[in-house]
Amino acid sequence: MIHRARKGEREAATLFFDSQTRLALFPRRRLDGAVTRYVTVMQGCDNFCAYCVVPHVRGREISRPSTEVLEEVRQLAAGGVREVTLIGQNVNSYGGNATGELSFPELLAAVHDIPDLCRLRFVTSHPKNLSDRLIDSFGALPKLCRHIHLPLQSGSDRVLAAMGRGYTARSYVDKVRRLRAVCPEIRITSDIIVGFPGETEEDFQATLALAAEVGYADLYTFLYSRRPGTAAIHLPDSVPAAVKQERFDRLLAQQERISAAVWGQDIGRTLPVLVEGESRHGAGQIFGRTTWGRIVNFTGPQELVGATVPVTIVDSYRNSQLGEYEAGSCRLADCGIGAGSAAGRQVAPPAKHSAIST
Ligand code: SF4
Repeated sequence: MIHRARKGEREAATLFFDSQTRLALFPRRRLDGAVTRYVTVMQGCDNFCAYCVVPHVRGREISRPSTEVLEEVRQLAAGGVREVTLIGQNVNSYGGNATGELSFPELLAAVHDIPDLCRLRFVTSHPKNLSDRLIDSFGALPKLCRHIHLPLQSGSDRVLAAMGRGYTARSYVDKVRRLRAVCPEIRITSDIIVGFPGETEEDFQATLALAAEVGYADLYTFLYSRRPGTAAIHLPDSVPAAVKQERFDRLLAQQERISAAVWGQDIGRTLPVLVEGESRHGAGQIFGRTTWGRIVNFTGPQELVGATVPVTIVDSYRNSQLGEYEAGSCRLADCGIGAGSAAGRQVAPPAKHSAIST
């Protein structure tokens, strides 16, 4: 396709690669002094939600062999990486169609046991694939960060069915309750689409109510737009643009209040922060993240990059927090949640670092 484009063709298309070719194409990231890394564990999706192009452009679901994933994480950890995020379009159905492969909770447990790795995350999860066993992982794996991104899309069962999501509003809320029972400190973020074809004011009210009931830490909200190749393109785009926008604004206003309350709880708390590099604010500041993935900027020496240190949160903004670090002010063991494993608490900064991009 590149060759044809160089010769002047302006449009090109190809059939999906076969599974062996696709497996060979799983990206591996170079070690460059980074503290955190994404590791791709699966690609594609078999769900065909009515609005989504992913299965059409990325192909059917395919999982990378767990041996390869584990080897990559081992190499990353040995090279100084302290946190990995396992990624896939539908990450928690990992291994589902591969005979003899680990299940996703088994993969998480195996990655968790890799020495020198302090933190583990995964994204993005489908609510219908959130098994009890995966929920239990949040109670069983200390290195697993206390955050899950769990796309809701709509709080109306009628709209969820039209989207082909495979769960109901109540079954979603039941899973949230289970998560919080297993891990009371967990924070949940989500995606919601506003204005899906046929969405009524009543449907939208159900979405507003469910978002308030769950109390998301953050919400990524989208105005529905038609995508070629999807099932929903055949439905009339029945919600006028002005109505979509007005619903979007109401959801956003509600979420801003909820997010401010969730993140505001951290003010005054001393939290373990994995330091990632120089802050983009400069002025001698460095930054890291709490277990919930929130960026914390604070003044501290560059030598802390790669270490998990106690930081007291002094202010909270829309996308980040301001912290204060006082060397020797407390031991990480006293800092409560999300410090990671005992090994993780005592991470020595790598000998040499470069600031990493966020
Ligand atoms: S929205 Fe997610 S689960 Fe649905 S088809 Fe797209 S990638 Fe798959």
